[in-house]
Amino acid sequence: MFKIVVLMGAPGAGKGTQARLLEERLGLPQVSTGDMFRALKDEHTPLAEEVQAIMKSGKLVPDDVTIRVVRERTGREDCKHGYILDGFPRTAAQAAMLERLAVEQGKRILPILIDVPFEVLEKRTTGRRICPECGEIYNIYSQPPKQEGVCDLHPTAKLIQRPDDTPEKTRVRLETYEEQTRPLLDYYSASNILRRVDGTREPEEIYAEIEKIVTSE
Ligand code: AMP
Repeated sequence: MFKIVVLMGAPGAGKGTQARLLEERLGLPQVSTGDMFRALKDEHTPLAEEVQAIMKSGKLVPDDVTIRVVRERTGREDCKHGYILDGFPRTAAQAAMLERLAVEQGKRILPILIDVPFEVLEKRTTGRRICPECGEIYNIYSQPPKQEGVCDLHPTAKLIQRPDDTPEKTRVRLETYEEQTRPLLDYYSASNILRRVDGTREPEEIYAEIEKIVTSE
């Protein structure tokens, strides 16, 4: 049965890094709600502007909007044989929708928690830098680029920081995660489908473990 790989974990746990690797190496498309919402930044519809204001605050975009986006994106041809969810579900309503979607699409949900202690997460987000050209993710503390401030693969691209990766916005995002998203782990855990990986190691080590889970289960 085809799978919906759900990467779970707090902001800064490394979901995006792992989703990119899975996409590159296993060919499963990465469906990232955060990336899809960020892509709205040049649109000037009322909805796009509302989404951007919410993201800037560190709070969650309303469930109905998020659910619509996920349903549309995962219904496309490239998701037919499975896909990776990065940053979804984040609320109980989204988790309930995903169950229905999985049944409709004839796929199985495989949630994997990238477990990182709370104290480490703040450094992960505030140190994060991204290549605007290819989306490669760096961290000034733990995964710095070869040359400060520029992408290893795109020497003309200056790395950028997400506006919600400031210490203040990180705090709001971590609180939101604790309140709304962490309870989903208990839910998946209770139905015995949650897999956990230690997210404090090197990205390649974490990847090897995730790949094994995805290909063998
Ligand atoms: P991320 O890149 O996953 O950290 O997401 C960045 C921001 O996008 C979040 O702080 C939310 O404002 C919004 N967002 C992403 N995914 C969701 C979701 N599943 N539900 C609600 N809001 C989301």
